[in-house]
Amino acid sequence: MNKEFFTQPLTSLCATLCDFAGVTPPEHAAPLCDELKQSLISQSGVSKTDRILMYNPDAVADYIYDKYADKFALCEQIAPVRQRFITVFPPKTPVCFASMYTGAAPEKHGITKYEKPVVTIDSIFDAFIRAGKKPCIVSVKNQSMDKIFRGRDMAYFSEKYDDEVVERALELMDKDEYDLLCVYNQRYDDSIHRTWPTSARSRHALDCYASSFVKLGEKVKTCWQNHDTLIGFAPDHGVHRMLIGLGNHSSNIPQDMNISHLYGIIPKK
Ligand SMILES: [Zn+2]
Repeated sequence: MNKEFFTQPLTSLCATLCDFAGVTPPEHAAPLCDELKQSLISQSGVSKTDRILMYNPDAVADYIYDKYADKFALCEQIAPVRQRFITVFPPKTPVCFASMYTGAAPEKHGITKYEKPVVTIDSIFDAFIRAGKKPCIVSVKNQSMDKIFRGRDMAYFSEKYDDEVVERALELMDKDEYDLLCVYNQRYDDSIHRTWPTSARSRHALDCYASSFVKLGEKVKTCWQNHDTLIGFAPDHGVHRMLIGLGNHSSNIPQDMNISHLYGIIPKK
């Protein structure tokens, strides 16, 4: 396990995605992550993409990713660029997703604890809409990603649970109407709170995340052949096991703060 904190801030992701889309980043977004930008360009030879598919699997810590790396082998074939980020504090779901998609620190976007108000500062969704592009969020109903970016002139789909979210996303990809599609899943986060980060139930949740991401990646290859697509596997925060045995994430420790994302560009045919 990595005992040091990673240094690349998660807030730099937002401007990086905007750069690939040719969209001016939201007002308070941190500067882009040049390391990720250059790696993706050298991986694909593509520097601009007209589709972005973000898969947001909740709570996959960097060390958990490493421990079960074999589960993610097929994901890495789709998205071969691994980018390590330090998430924002406190490492709670709405705090982290608000920073991921505004590029701003918690004090700036206003969510600094576990609560799910609508984020009112400029976000990637506003930036895409201003650029004439169509964003869409598909989430489990009432979860952070379902609630905190409401109020924009964009599409939202609220589903029963992870499988329904993925099914909806695949259906939307068939229709090919959205330029930025964010797809939220939560099974691992649910499991670590009820059991612990390496329980059989939690390991199964990681398998589900991996197979869902592969399904989405395969769908890009078949349905979005006319587009250059940036695809990402992008968790919000990590997890640790408490002394009482259950998993949790709220501490300023590398287990909770260090995350690994996967990215790839699938060029058009
Ligand atoms: Zn979370």
